[in-house]
Amino acid sequence: MEETQNYWRKCGSCKKEIGFNSIYQSCSVSTCKKAVFCSVNCWNLHNEVMSHKSAWAEENRSPRKEEVTASDERAPKRILVQSKPAADSNASGVADEQDILIVASKLKAYIKDKYDMNTSANVMEMLSHQVRRLTDRAVEKARAEGRKTVMDRDYE
Ligand SMILES: [Zn+2]
Ligand SMILES: [Zn+2]
Repeated sequence: MEETQNYWRKCGSCKKEIGFNSIYQSCSVSTCKKAVFCSVNCWNLHNEVMSHKSAWAEENRSPRKEEVTASDERAPKRILVQSKPAADSNASGVADEQDILIVASKLKAYIKDKYDMNTSANVMEMLSHQVRRLTDRAVEKARAEGRKTVMDRDYE
């Protein structure tokens, strides 16, 4: 490995180089996790292109150069698993970000009965995103209080 790359990755919108150990933005949509952006503005561009319905930019810090080169040379060991087998999801504790968490039939029935309206399928996706987002926050609250149990008040 003679060629040393002096930046970590390139911005998904403007292609500007994002350095090591520096702040970058990523997309909250799980299927976009691989994309990185140099700024919230660049993420906004991406958001417009992708027309996400419910998304936000997440601030992250890129790895230090040593971390990256170390894992490159020693190959597969430290490669992050992007899509783990479904059977594994409970054991590994990695939740599937695409899972629908809403009982579609119940929600549809509610909307139908109460308002006599139909429900588009991607409402479930959208709501699942919202539930995950609220839950992430609730978990942080619970953690901050040193609890292992997420409680209703964490969602307030
Ligand atoms: Zn950019
Ligand atoms: Zn995205």
